[in-house]
Amino acid sequence: MHSPEQLPELLRGVGMTSQRTRDRMVARLADQGIEDERVLTAMASEPRHLFLDEALSHRAYEDTSLPIGLGQTLSQPWMVARMTELVLNESPRRVLEIGTGSGYQTLILARLVPELWSVERINALHHRAAERLRLLKAYNVRLRLADGGHGWSEAAPFDVILLTACAQELPDVLVSQLADGGVMILPLADAGGEQWLTRVRRVGNRQEVKRLERVRFVPLLQGVIR
Ligand code: SAH
Repeated sequence: MHSPEQLPELLRGVGMTSQRTRDRMVARLADQGIEDERVLTAMASEPRHLFLDEALSHRAYEDTSLPIGLGQTLSQPWMVARMTELVLNESPRRVLEIGTGSGYQTLILARLVPELWSVERINALHHRAAERLRLLKAYNVRLRLADGGHGWSEAAPFDVILLTACAQELPDVLVSQLADGGVMILPLADAGGEQWLTRVRRVGNRQEVKRLERVRFVPLLQGVIR
């Protein structure tokens, strides 16, 4: 164990932003229709402010998405809660996330599912997230720097695949890495460019597609940025 003086820079912010602020965020989420107690409890416990640069960390518990650098954003609390609820509805054992970003959604999932894999295409974000998740002891997560469009074939099949960036069309490779009966939860653009949170269930060779609500995400892009 480390003594407090040895704790890395990153963790010094723990406790700076009070439990009360987090409790208020969670009360708001419940008002907005988030019902799963496991999700509310995890979000009440975990330090969202550590997933932002120091200059923005005081805004971590506001009802908004926030920039994490390199043109990417940390999703608003409601979106994280909603997607986590959709994941937990499947009682999954094995989950793949595409778009680690800051790692906050990753952490919330890691606390609630047995095994998690997460892929990010931007090296700087991947590294920062890896450090935070290690310090927060999220040991059931495996991270990879890669184009998530290829999935993670060695670890497939997954019970759930979650995308935190918006696809222009259904990524077939990812569907093929779902277990039979498994679901993909993703923001998917329609022909007019509107984004819809979408649930795709693989049933044998068929896909059952259900459109949920309108959302706004950064785009799913190809390739790796080192
Ligand atoms: N869940 C993240 C959201 C980050 S925004 C968070 O809570 O912070 C979406 C992320 O998806 C960005 O970091 C972006 O770089 C990443 N992304 C976009 N296309 C990707 C791809 N093909 N493979 C892996 N990650 C991708």
